[in-house]
Amino acid sequence: MSIQNNLQQIRSTIPSSVTLVAVTKTHPVEKLKELYDAGHRQFGENKVQEMAGKYEALPRDIQWHLIGHLQTNKVKYIAPFVHLIHSVDSLKLLQEINKQAQKCNRVISCLLQVYLAKEETKFGMDEEELKALINAQEVEQFANIQVRGLMGMASNTDNTEQIRMEFHRLKTIFDLYKSIGKKNICMEILSMGMSSDYKIAIENGSTMVRVGSAIFGNRG
Ligand SMILES: *Cc1c(COP(=O)(O)O)cnc(C)c1O
Repeated sequence: MSIQNNLQQIRSTIPSSVTLVAVTKTHPVEKLKELYDAGHRQFGENKVQEMAGKYEALPRDIQWHLIGHLQTNKVKYIAPFVHLIHSVDSLKLLQEINKQAQKCNRVISCLLQVYLAKEETKFGMDEEELKALINAQEVEQFANIQVRGLMGMASNTDNTEQIRMEFHRLKTIFDLYKSIGKKNICMEILSMGMSSDYKIAIENGSTMVRVGSAIFGNRG
């Protein structure tokens, strides 16, 4: 199967209201160019350096999604161009993104990452930490930040019922903060679902899926 065929196949199974982010991490720019030539513009990377390098090498109308853990000292490398940061997990990070966005005269869209999986250590905040961040006084003063929703990853398991419950929980949290009424927080994007579980995620309210291996094949 070619990359284009895989892309079309996935697109045909997701509603047009759901955004498909093609996760291009580890793949060379030639492969990304194939996706680009097939009309795709939403690309996701998990490492700052890799994303910045690919941004330089590819056309400017690509929208770059940072989906991996982000260290505060690396924000500056992506601030000039990043479209959406999915992995905000602290007030300190949000503050740094605001600072770098200000320098670039931009407003950067962010999602808050919530920890869902039971067994493994994964990045993200638990519900208490999320609540504290959303309610922090400082957030409203971050004029160069727009919090647009939440991101989460389900457990890496074959147990589809567990996955469904985890996604359902995130959707419930998302709905809870819909009426938060802060000027730069607006719950409109729910980023959940990867190659193995994006269908379950969409059934449970996902508006944005991050799909890598189902498009490119397994990463080496
Ligand atoms: C790698 C990755 C994906 C895509 O995973 P696939 O199983 O290849 O679809 C999605 N989200 C995050 C945060 C990732 O790191």
